[in-house]
Amino acid sequence: MKDLVIIGGGPGGLTAGIYAVRSGLDVVLYERGALGGNVLNAEKVENYPGFPGGISGPDLIARMEEHARQVGLPIEFNEVHEITPENGCFRLRTREGEVSTRTVIIATGTGPRPLGVEGEERLRGRGVSYCAVCDGAFFRDQPVAVVGGGDAAVEEAHYLSRFASKVYLVHPRATIRRFRVERSRIEKNPKIEMIPNTEVTGIKGDKAVEGLVLKNRESGETRDLQVDGVFVYVGIKPNSYLVEKLVDLDDRGFIITDDRMRTSWPGIFAAGDVRRTPLRQIATAVADGATAAIWAEKQIAHVSC
Ligand SMILES: Cc1cc2nc3c(=O)[nH]c(=O)nc-3n(C[C@H](O)[C@H](O)[C@H](O)COP(=O)(O)OP(=O)(O)OC[C@H]3O[C@@H](n4cnc5c(N)ncnc54)[C@H](O)[C@@H]3O)c2cc1C
Repeated sequence: MKDLVIIGGGPGGLTAGIYAVRSGLDVVLYERGALGGNVLNAEKVENYPGFPGGISGPDLIARMEEHARQVGLPIEFNEVHEITPENGCFRLRTREGEVSTRTVIIATGTGPRPLGVEGEERLRGRGVSYCAVCDGAFFRDQPVAVVGGGDAAVEEAHYLSRFASKVYLVHPRATIRRFRVERSRIEKNPKIEMIPNTEVTGIKGDKAVEGLVLKNRESGETRDLQVDGVFVYVGIKPNSYLVEKLVDLDDRGFIITDDRMRTSWPGIFAAGDVRRTPLRQIATAVADGATAAIWAEKQIAHVSC
């Protein structure tokens, strides 16, 4: 029986692990992929304190991992499939077997929200991508499209313009909402062409992306756009599936916690981007992880199972 299982090895989970080990808990952290979560997609992190001039996402995570291993945090590359409450504690079914624990911290982060159009699922990884830093270089000298109306879409369009021959920014509104300076940066980039007031209604291609079907939101007119890649930035969805039947979620599926990261189920805590929070950044995930571990440790005194 573990004191604490931390699910997710992004900045929230790693920080929870450091605090848990230092509090003397018998803890294990499970990560289903690579440590670092979404930070691995950040080409450069310029707002995390302690790194004047910035640091690449992978380098920042390497430091966090080194720190976690140095304090002795057990890290297992394993996926948690199910959490079942049992006599006041929890049984977790993982890819490798089962484990019981007194408390759990859900630090599973978020994933990209899909567009939900014909062709997207079939061509995922064959020209449909959700990560410019991961896949942008595959599209050297080829035309690509970025779909989305937020900051991430604008940022990624700039990033992709380093490689691609042309970047179409398919935008749902008439103009980008961002600051005037950002608008003029887009206008000055000769490789980026804004396609305003437009939605994507389909992605074409047999074995790879060949183009998009676009619909003008004002006129209703449709047309094809020839591109070899499409990068989707239409929002995020929380990885809260493990506890969706156990704890309270908001209407978008984010886990609701109090300021000690307690969910509505005693013994289950949540930290970082997966919870309802006004800001999703490394600094806030780290803060949540620390708080969750400290309050999990306090909770354990009241657990008998
Ligand atoms: C392109 C990009 C650039 C960004 N740039 C910045 C920046 O410059 N500065 C900044 O502060 N923030 C930035 N962010 C935001 C930052 O990455 C997130 O706020 C932060 O990673 C959240 O940390 P987290 O620990 O909550 O979740 P995540 O980092 O998402 O980590 C969650 C982890 O949980 C794992 N997991 C999920 N389900 C399971 C399961 N069932 N079993 C085991 N493991 C599981 C996932 O594999 C993942 O590794 C950026 C994000 C993106 C996408």
